[in-house]
Amino acid sequence: MLGFSPPSLEKLVREFSLLPGIGKKTARRLAFHLISGDREKMGDFANAILEAKEKLVHCKICYGITETEICPLCASRNRDRTILCVVEKAADILPFESSGAFKGLYFVLGGVLSPLDGIRPENLHIPQLIERVHSDEVQELILALGSSPEAESTALYIDRKLADTSARRTKLARGIPVGSDLEFIDEITMLRAFEERVRV
Ligand SMILES: [Zn+2]
Repeated sequence: MLGFSPPSLEKLVREFSLLPGIGKKTARRLAFHLISGDREKMGDFANAILEAKEKLVHCKICYGITETEICPLCASRNRDRTILCVVEKAADILPFESSGAFKGLYFVLGGVLSPLDGIRPENLHIPQLIERVHSDEVQELILALGSSPEAESTALYIDRKLADTSARRTKLARGIPVGSDLEFIDEITMLRAFEERVRV
């Protein structure tokens, strides 16, 4: 906290600095940018945050983010229901959709296994995924969980849990840089990793 800086400004800076990937300097720049606009613009910004929080829920089927109980993807009749792409978080759906390569459905795990941090299968949507594969018409499961050690062991765990099913388990081809976030993968890389997917 800077002694000469107004408390309300410092409060705004602190809120920004709590966001992922935002350091103290960026937080300050964003706060100054925001307060230099007129009141109406700031109101729009604040309202957008509140409205998003109020309207957005998790889809009951895939756990993606939506404004309806069942998201448009799960509700669509034009998607291939036999192929399920498993991602870590809802934001990871975006690169698949913008690459246009995938016509199946998604399933959001809500994280990856990390026993040291206390994240076990029951803390994620893994039980729901296993149940869905057992009870649904899923023929292929693409485990698109990234390449961190935690993501790799999560994919292996799911693979073993489904060893008794006929559903094929595949993962994206190498080519996605190690440790990189799926969310920021470009479309070409995604398209290639998708087309050249391999068995887990
Ligand atoms: Zn859904």
